[in-house]
Amino acid sequence: VDHVVVVGAGLAGVRTVEALRGRGFGGTITLVGRERHRPYDRPPLTKSVLLGESDTTFVDTDLAALRVAFRPGVSATALRPGAVETTEGELRYDGLVIATGADPVRLPGDGPQHVLRTLDDAHELRAALVPGARVVVAGAGWVGAEVATAARRAGCAVTVVEAGPAPLATAVGPEIGARTERWYDGVDLRLGSMVHSVEEGGVELVGGEFLDAHVVVAGIGVRPAVQWLADADLDLHNGVVVDEHLRASLPGTVAVGDCAAWWSRRFQDRLRVEHWDTALNAPEVAAASLLGEDAVYDPVPYFWSEQFGHMVQYAGHHPAGERLLYRGGSEGKWSAVWLRGDDSLAAVFAVDRPRDLVQGRRIIGAGSRLDAERLVDPDVPLRDC
Ligand code: FAD
Repeated sequence: VDHVVVVGAGLAGVRTVEALRGRGFGGTITLVGRERHRPYDRPPLTKSVLLGESDTTFVDTDLAALRVAFRPGVSATALRPGAVETTEGELRYDGLVIATGADPVRLPGDGPQHVLRTLDDAHELRAALVPGARVVVAGAGWVGAEVATAARRAGCAVTVVEAGPAPLATAVGPEIGARTERWYDGVDLRLGSMVHSVEEGGVELVGGEFLDAHVVVAGIGVRPAVQWLADADLDLHNGVVVDEHLRASLPGTVAVGDCAAWWSRRFQDRLRVEHWDTALNAPEVAAASLLGEDAVYDPVPYFWSEQFGHMVQYAGHHPAGERLLYRGGSEGKWSAVWLRGDDSLAAVFAVDRPRDLVQGRRIIGAGSRLDAERLVDPDVPLRDC
């Protein structure tokens, strides 16, 4: 491999560049990124940036020392074997890294709306969150909950419109989600309700009610950013389909981060995880695979969120049907764990209990079984269950 082209200059893209150089790759690397910024972290966008505690979140990396030809403001538009078409001409490659992440889904309607994916999005939204502003957030998922937190803190009047029966229901199920409902104190939380369209001056809900709003935020999820690959000779299904080595179906190609759906040996399932930890760590495997080494990506996925003053963390993967047990009541600090039929741990969800998360992630990794009766006692450390 002489020339590697990395498409997407987010965390997964830049970490793959670092991993290639870390493995001694001495050829040319071109890093193409649609945004005009150098690579930055997204988790702080809904946290410290929206709260006004920081302005930028650049990844601590030295692009010059990495000898990478960084092309900001350039989008890939198509792929054929051996060449990426971009808005600034063709780039020939003999190794390709697809790291284009995900794009936010927008609400229907012609009225103004905010999404929150980029640094520029965060700055625009922050400027709009002024005391007394009426803010409607569509979606009580991770991003919606964090935006609502920041908007409340800024002194806005916040309404959250959620289609499901509880916050976070899509991510962790309605039962756990219902335990977070009390956190929405001071927020007008509309469950089982959907935005029909965004209009000038507010949103119309399905059913006809109109909610006045100065600021409308869509927090209804993302889609893998793979439209530019639509005509490529490459398997796409909920993102770029890759094997356990993160290799795509087109030879000499790997995919990594939010856009990649990889085969997990551990969970015997195809996973596409939109979390920072994956973008941070999968690149080591992607780089190794691209250079012909034998590496497997098989993590216990991990995620955190900071909402309404709580640190929320999740590790594992829980298909529906697994047994759900709680450690602690719904007030204060508590955790939920999913057990498989053989009492091994599938996933853990921890609220202000970081030890449960760390120990649970290790237990999932080791595949050990737990004693369900000890487990429900929050005073017994998970590792002793
Ligand atoms: P991205 O970060 O999306 O980077 C992909 C880059 O590729 C983008 O810059 C994009 O513009 C560019 N691109 C796309 N298409 C093209 C193209 N055709 N040509 C060129 N460039 C292109 N995760 C957590 O674990 N915890 C959190 O608390 C958390 N908070 C988050 C808060 C927000 C607001 C957001 C948006 C995400 C959050 N995440 C969090 C998720 C985490 O940030 C993502 O999983 C991570 O950014 C994925 O990195 P990536 O490099 O795969 O994709």
